[in-house]
Amino acid sequence: MNSILQQDLNDLENILEKAKQQGIDFLNNLDDIPTSNQNKIDPKRVLNELGIGSEQALKEFKQRLAPLLVSSPGPRYWGFVTGGSTPASIVGDWLASVYDQNTQSVTSQGGNSALIEFETINLLLQLLELPDSFLGGFVTGATMSNFTSLAVARQWFGAQFGKDFAKNGISETINILTATPHSSSIKSLSMLGIGSQNYTLVKTIEGNREALDIADLEEKMKALNGKPFILISSAGTVNTADFDDFEAIAGLKEKYNFWWHIDGAFGGFAAVSEKYKHYVKGWEGADSITIDCHKWLNVPYESAFYLIKKEHINLQIETFQNSNAPYLGDPLENFNYLNVLPENSRRLRALPVWFSLVAYGKEGFCDIIEKSTQLALHFANALIEDNNFELLAPIRLNNVCFTIKGDDNQDKVSKFLAKLNYTGKVFMTPTVYENKKGIRASFVNWRTTEQDIKIVMEEMKNILEDFDL
Ligand SMILES: *Cc1c(COP(=O)(O)O)cnc(C)c1O
Repeated sequence: MNSILQQDLNDLENILEKAKQQGIDFLNNLDDIPTSNQNKIDPKRVLNELGIGSEQALKEFKQRLAPLLVSSPGPRYWGFVTGGSTPASIVGDWLASVYDQNTQSVTSQGGNSALIEFETINLLLQLLELPDSFLGGFVTGATMSNFTSLAVARQWFGAQFGKDFAKNGISETINILTATPHSSSIKSLSMLGIGSQNYTLVKTIEGNREALDIADLEEKMKALNGKPFILISSAGTVNTADFDDFEAIAGLKEKYNFWWHIDGAFGGFAAVSEKYKHYVKGWEGADSITIDCHKWLNVPYESAFYLIKKEHINLQIETFQNSNAPYLGDPLENFNYLNVLPENSRRLRALPVWFSLVAYGKEGFCDIIEKSTQLALHFANALIEDNNFELLAPIRLNNVCFTIKGDDNQDKVSKFLAKLNYTGKVFMTPTVYENKKGIRASFVNWRTTEQDIKIVMEEMKNILEDFDL
């Protein structure tokens, strides 16, 4: 063993203690660490001939690299849809690295870490009140979950023509219907060889909505003349957290032959609250569902899962079967994750989620979901009271989509947001909604309080004073 490695090994406890302290210093100061910074490094460090050991590397990290990092798990990072990490999720994440398993199947790696993934998926089904007719697995994010689901949908589409696209390539035009797909679904169409432009847009409901217009959907279905298709629907659009009408879609599924996918990356968590579960009523009829854990479940990146109906397991295996690991016998009995999703080797990604669900229970997550929605309303009210802002959409859940009031102020929106983000007190993202430049704030983080909204409103007022409205 190299002497520096040997030293590190001898000094392991001290090194981990120091790493823990580095973590504590970050987490205990999230409130004060800026949500943006202008720090830079010249990313051209020379690789040492002789290493410097973990302790020195940690010192260098602290000095050179940590200043590049922002308070994205903190309470005022409202950009995109950004979760934080709860204590239990950090424990699970750290231990996933420490135990360093390659989670594929029961016993095939000599261990049974896949049982932990099964159990975690089962806990998630209970949290979301979904039936166990779904099989699930962990992937890095909702993008990969959409990709995995749509890949199986693609295989299903071929099967309707007696074709095996996974083996022979795509030989039919794949029909896709969707209204307000997330960009990652479009990216998936591109990665899947379907083509990022090859989908038919269904109208959205009139009157400031992003949900599918069911009448138009059925017309587009009819126009396909009985040809199969894939429907990409939304449980929570990113601008306005709008939901498609899943009961109506379930009804259409009885009449038309299609694969029904739901992207519920964050909105799926509406199922956790008595107040909001009506949004997802009927979603158990879908063939596949995408959910992110690194958003509203507040676990560290990278964590998401897909749910695909068990009845499609053979299509799923045809899609992802690893050719070096021929499938033996009953696919459910000899189940191996490497045959049902994109990656072969995978970390024990379920562990942070397992810890979170066991530590905080249904009540803990219901509380995070409902608090987030209350905060979104609170922020929206503060914006309205301020009189210089207007909402671009009603608050359905946890996202606030707003702009500076007045059409002649449209050219000031980007500059205003840039100045606001520059303060490092808060981070929000720009958007365009109904042809208007807007700003999005998404409430997902378990640490956010009304005090944070007060701090942000003050910053916004200060900055607006410099603008001549
Ligand atoms: C965030 C998001 C995605 C993409 O998720 P990643 O975790 O970034 O891959 C997909 N769909 C929706 C609705 C999202 O909000």
